[in-house]
Amino acid sequence: MTANTDTYDYIVTGAGSAGCVVAARLSEDGRYRVLLLEAGGNDSNPWIHVPMGYPKVFANPKFNWMYESEPEPGLMGKRLYQPRGKVMGGTSAINGMVYMRGHPADYDEWRQRGCAGWDWDGVLPYFRKGEDQENGANAFHGVGGPLRVSNPPVRLEIAERWIAAAIQAGLPAKDDFNDGQQDGAGDFQSTIDRRRRASTATAYLDPARNRPNLTIETHAQATRILIEDGRAVGIAYVRKGVPRTARARGEVIVCGGVFNSPQLLQLSGLGPVDLLRNLGIPVIRDMPGVGADLQDHFSVRCNFRCTRPITLNDIANSLWRRVVAGAQYVLFRGGPLASSGIAAGGYVRSDARLDRPDIQFTCCAFSYAGRDSKGAQPHPFPGFSVGAVHVSPEARGTVRIQSPDPLAPPAIAFNFLRTANDLRITMAGVRWVRRIAQQPALAPYIAGEIFPGPAVNTDAEFEHAIRSNGVSGQHGVGTCRMGTDERAVVDPRLRVHGVRNLRVADASVMPSVTAGNTNAPTIMIAEKGAAMILEDAPENT
Ligand SMILES: Cc1cc2nc3c(=O)[nH]c(=O)nc-3n(C[C@H](O)[C@H](O)[C@H](O)COP(=O)(O)OP(=O)(O)OC[C@H]3O[C@@H](n4cnc5c(N)ncnc54)[C@H](O)[C@@H]3O)c2cc1C
Repeated sequence: MTANTDTYDYIVTGAGSAGCVVAARLSEDGRYRVLLLEAGGNDSNPWIHVPMGYPKVFANPKFNWMYESEPEPGLMGKRLYQPRGKVMGGTSAINGMVYMRGHPADYDEWRQRGCAGWDWDGVLPYFRKGEDQENGANAFHGVGGPLRVSNPPVRLEIAERWIAAAIQAGLPAKDDFNDGQQDGAGDFQSTIDRRRRASTATAYLDPARNRPNLTIETHAQATRILIEDGRAVGIAYVRKGVPRTARARGEVIVCGGVFNSPQLLQLSGLGPVDLLRNLGIPVIRDMPGVGADLQDHFSVRCNFRCTRPITLNDIANSLWRRVVAGAQYVLFRGGPLASSGIAAGGYVRSDARLDRPDIQFTCCAFSYAGRDSKGAQPHPFPGFSVGAVHVSPEARGTVRIQSPDPLAPPAIAFNFLRTANDLRITMAGVRWVRRIAQQPALAPYIAGEIFPGPAVNTDAEFEHAIRSNGVSGQHGVGTCRMGTDERAVVDPRLRVHGVRNLRVADASVMPSVTAGNTNAPTIMIAEKGAAMILEDAPENT
C-alpha cells in the first residue's frame, strides 16, 4: 500500500451503463464511501446529448475504445468494428438509445441454467425500479425511476410507412415491445429525456454527483484488482499516466463491459491458466470461463433508395437543411435531431414452431455505404435501412488479453455464421425485410433495393451477401458469465467464484444474450446487483 492510498467501502471500475447505476445506488443512503473509476473523460461534448448526434461519437477515439475483432472466418476473414463508450455513461453515452428488455423466456432460461432469482418475475421489479415510463405505470412499467423511457419524439414518415408495410406483410401491430410479448411491428421506445439522450451518467449519476461520499475519477483506468489471500482488497489504476492504488474495505465491483471486464480479470490473474502463463501473469485462480462464451446478435443491414427526400440522409446531405435542423433543435429541441432515427421495428419467428421470435427488425431513417459505422457517410441520395438481426445466435466467441500491458486492446473473436442454423435464420430475416419492402404501404417509397440488391435471389446469393456484409449487433454479453457450472465466472449474486469481495455487474455476466438491445437489461443487472451488494453489506447480514 502506498502512502497516498485512499480507502473506500466500495470501488466500482467503469462508469458505463452499469457502473453509473451501481455507484449511484451504493452511495444513495450516505452510509458508504464509494469510488467510481472511469477510463474515459467527462460527457460534456454536446453531440453526446443530442439524440441524432451519435454518428459524431461512433468512431471518435476521444469517447470510444474503437475495438476491432480478429478476422472472422465465417465472414470472409473480415474484422468487425466494435465501438464502445469510453466516457462517463460508457456505451449508454454513444448507443442508439433503443429501450428493449428482451423476452421473458430469456430470463426464465437464465434461471433454468442455474441463475436463481433471475427469471422474469425476479428481474421485472428491477426494470420497473429504474424506469420513468412516458406512458405511465402498469404491471410492466414503472414511473419515477431515474431512466426516462419515451415514445419517438418526432414522427418519421418512413418509419410509419415501414410499420404499415410490416402489418400488411402479416406482423401484428404492436404498441409495447416490453410487455412480455414481442411479435409484431411498431414504434420503438428510447432512452431520451426531454429530447436529450438519457445515458446512465445523466440519469443516475448527475443527481448523485455532489454526494460527499461519492468520489468520481475520470481518465482513471483500472489495471489490476488487488487480491490478498483470496480476497479483493483494492484496485491498481493509472490516472493521466500516473499509477495509483485505492483500497476497498468492502467490495470491488467490476463494471468494465463485455470486453474490458474479462480483460481486467485476466490481467489480475483470474482467467484461463494457459493464457495467463504464456503472458507471464501470476495465476491467482484458473478460470477458463473468463473471456469465454462471448455471444452477440448478428445483424445484416438492408439498404433502400427512397423516392422522396424524407430521410435523414437528405438533411445530412444539404447544408441548408442541416442549418434548419440545427436551429429547430437548438431553439425548440425539435426537428429530426431530436430523434434517434431508429424509431420503429419489429419481431418475427423464423419458424412458427418457435416459442418466441428470433429475428428483430430495426428500421432506420437513414442509410450509408460500407459494412460498418466506422467513418460511415450517408448515401448521397434519400435512403433508409432495415436491420435483420438474429437475436439468439449459436455462435460463441472469446475475449483474451494479448499482452500483460493493461492498456493494450484484447483480442475479440465472435465466430459468427459457423453453424448452418445461424446462417438459415439470418437468411430468413433478410428475406422478411424484402417481403415487407414489397408491400403496398412501402413500395411507392422505394426507388430501389441497394443491398442485398435485385441480383440476389438464390440461397447461395443470399449467403454470399450475408457473409460479406453481416456485422455484430453491438450487443455482446457473456464473457464473465453468471452461473453455477464449472465455467461460470460469477454466481447468481454476481460474486466472482473463488474470490471474496469481488463482483462483476455489467453486460458481461449475462448467461445468454436477450432477444433485444442490451442497454436496458444491463441497467437492470446493475440495479439488482447493487441491491444484492447492499443486502450483503456486513451490517445488513
Ligand atoms: C454502437 C452501439 C449502439 C448500441 N445501441 C443500443 C441501443 O440502441 N439500445 C440498447 O439497448 N443497447 C445498445 N447497445 C448496447 C448497449 O449500449 C450495451 O450493451 C451496454 O451499454 C453495455 O453496458 P456495460 O455497462 O456492460 O458496458 P459499458 O457501457 O461499455 O461500460 C463500461 C465502462 O467501463 C469503462 N472501463 C472499461 N475498462 C475500464 C477500466 N479498466 N478502468 C476504468 N474504466 C473502464 C469504459 O470506458 C466504460 O465507460 C449499443 C452498443 C453499441 C456499441
